[in-house]
Amino acid sequence: MSDSCIFCKIVKGEIPSKKVYEDDQLIAFHDISPLAPVHILIIPKHHVVSMQDVSDADSEWLGRMMALVPRIASENGCEPGPDGGFRIVVNSGAHGGQEVHHLHLHILGGPRPWTPKA
Ligand code: 5GP
Ligand code: ZN
Repeated sequence: MSDSCIFCKIVKGEIPSKKVYEDDQLIAFHDISPLAPVHILIIPKHHVVSMQDVSDADSEWLGRMMALVPRIASENGCEPGPDGGFRIVVNSGAHGGQEVHHLHLHILGGPRPWTPKA
């Protein structure tokens, strides 16, 4: 946990969020400034700064985070099949455009056009 991290505060319930999923390792919630009709963030509950900080030791929760994507996407309005789908993004570090320094995976979906966050 990091005292100044807004996503750690969301995990602790100190900042409100529209939560859509929670287990002992991960939570998912709506992005506060959605860039697409569906914009959900999945984060680990423990403080990890970015994808630059993960290694083999993180395979279990990282794999679970990826494996949750289709479930969270479909439960929150992403349509299935080749005419539906979603985009997943993990910005990492300054060159990756990361603004919140607690690792998070964006799920962006819904009918286009919408702003594709690079
Ligand atoms: P990044 O640019 O770091 O990949 O994305 C950070 C994301 O976190 C942005 O899309 C931003 O809208 C979202 N965000 C920032 N602060 C909050 C907050 O307090 N609550 C929620 N739900 N999302 C936030
Ligand atoms: Zn944090």
